[in-house]
Amino acid sequence: MKLSFRIIPARFTKDTQFNELLAFLLEHREAVGEISLFTEYWHHGYYPLEQFEPFCEVVTKRIATLRENGFSNVGVNMLCTLGHFDEACNWLPSLPYQAATDHNGIESKSCFCPNSPQFMEYIKRKYELLAQTKPDFIWVDDDVRMHSHGVEYTCFCPICIDKFNHTNGTNIDRQLLVEQLNQPDGAHYREQWIEQNTTVVEQLLEHIAASVHRVDDQIELGFMTVSQVYASYSGPDYERWLRALKATKARPGGGFYDDREPLSLIQKILETSRQTVSFPREIRDLQYEFENFPFQRLSKSIHFGLLECTAALATGLNGIAFDLLKQEEGTLEDYHDWMIGIQKMKPMWSAMAENAGDYVGRGLYPAFSAQFDAKRKVQQEGNWFKPDNGDVLKVYSLSELGIPLSMDANHACGTILTGKMAEGFTTEELRSMLAGGLLIDGRSLQVLWERGLGHLCGVSIRETYDNGVYEQFTDEGFNGRHSGERRDARIAFWKDLAYVVEPLNPEVRIISRLLNFVGEDLGPTFTLFENELGGRVAVHGYAPWKHIHSGVKREQLMKVCDWLTKGILPVIIRKLGKVVPLIQSTPDGSGYSLMLINATMDPTGEFDVEVRTSHTHWSRLAEDGVYTPLTNGRVKNEKDVTIITVDSIGPWEYIILSTQMESERL
Ligand SMILES: [Zn+2]
Repeated sequence: MKLSFRIIPARFTKDTQFNELLAFLLEHREAVGEISLFTEYWHHGYYPLEQFEPFCEVVTKRIATLRENGFSNVGVNMLCTLGHFDEACNWLPSLPYQAATDHNGIESKSCFCPNSPQFMEYIKRKYELLAQTKPDFIWVDDDVRMHSHGVEYTCFCPICIDKFNHTNGTNIDRQLLVEQLNQPDGAHYREQWIEQNTTVVEQLLEHIAASVHRVDDQIELGFMTVSQVYASYSGPDYERWLRALKATKARPGGGFYDDREPLSLIQKILETSRQTVSFPREIRDLQYEFENFPFQRLSKSIHFGLLECTAALATGLNGIAFDLLKQEEGTLEDYHDWMIGIQKMKPMWSAMAENAGDYVGRGLYPAFSAQFDAKRKVQQEGNWFKPDNGDVLKVYSLSELGIPLSMDANHACGTILTGKMAEGFTTEELRSMLAGGLLIDGRSLQVLWERGLGHLCGVSIRETYDNGVYEQFTDEGFNGRHSGERRDARIAFWKDLAYVVEPLNPEVRIISRLLNFVGEDLGPTFTLFENELGGRVAVHGYAPWKHIHSGVKREQLMKVCDWLTKGILPVIIRKLGKVVPLIQSTPDGSGYSLMLINATMDPTGEFDVEVRTSHTHWSRLAEDGVYTPLTNGRVKNEKDVTIITVDSIGPWEYIILSTQMESERL
């Protein structure tokens, strides 16, 4: 398990600052497993080499001193390869080579085009200089991407347009290419363009690996990725990219900078998990990025921050890269409590990390294709440069109800499609989702009909409404004692759309109907159907991801999710509460690990959790890293499931349960 600290230059370039840093790190020696020195303070891409060279001499000296003081794992983090965004460009030297250029021909002020020969020579030399500092490793930061470089969509400079023409045998200029990309029938161009983005990044990473390894082939390389949901324009093929870099380390990332909205934690954990699942299996150094940018002590509470790190480790990562310590010159006195907290968690985190790579996530898979931007439809008069990729994130509210989500499509027990996400998949991929368990919203139903697969959902769209409607549970046996219950999500307030569907088959079960505010029945809005492929499809047409936080709606949704997986939803919490489950197991089910997070300010009270496995020996992992077996009476077997009685979990606290026993540890 790696506990890595990323250190900004202001903290180590001057002797006084470095000495304070060294004293701080030595004082908390036990909490520090890896040190990574940043190359830049700023996100501006250009660092004149005649200035970078003396900077690297300082880095060489600092690495040597850190090693002399007993830190064995010391490396560097190239913050800027292309440049992240426009910052300090008025004060720092202007880009001397082709700048990243957007589809309107506007140039970034701080970020390079990755394709000019001058840049390739410059970046080769920059990495060579860094490799000469004798680091154990070099991290390549997440600015190696084709989006968000001060200008949003890159790179449409003349060099890149030439490259496109050369690769695809076309003869087209920027304006004409952009016109094609915006055409409804421009799918072929969009796929070619995204493929160019994937390839450009791949070639740059290959070039970086070669530059570093020419100096020293023992230097390990690591790559920092971002959520595919936001990086889809870059054509994120993390398997190709990490292999091109010959990476042995990876850090999935995502913005989550303060705890003002604590539930954003769940989104970050799931989005980093989505990235991790797509990495090549051989990469075993997987570091979660803990970040409170711009690194101020009070932006995240320590309690919450440690919970965040623990949750990350519960999804299969085995290290934490702390982007935590003060970025400016000045005192580190604010951070001692943090380091004490980290050290306290180390035994538990080490125990959790032992299983990293051996376990897979279990639950329902919120589907997103990394090829979404290449494949999504553009409407007539449309604009491809206006994506709506974020729809998939709305699904994560289900986990607040206790419904387990997994980013591992191959081991998930069912799939969830939302918004236009279905457009990112091939018809065969969609058919295979429809042959399993599938939960969809109204917009997804529309896409599936457009793709010729609508009949497999058992319903078509009859009508949509944008205000003044609510749902009522039907007296279908499925709803049990809750028939007649109502839910009003006030969709007009959120500019949402409600769908009434038309059953096409007598077998379709209707579990909710849509009513208007004067009580008239508008038709079915939540249906269940078992199709000819043997798949079970639930179509939820009314506010499926929002304002679902009542006991009766929770129970209905939980039952639906369990029904569509044919009773193998891996975990069911038998009590009303906001308990988020993160469940993993070995692929063959021989071992399980379950983290339950109480995501409210109320204690949960004692509750039962049902785990769909016949394991009877369970233990609880504590902060001291010890697995304590659950005593008799706390674990029961009912048919093929295990019922575990859990003591009350406090506000924003958690419990980790495992089938692992202390005696099995190495
Ligand atoms: Zn370019």
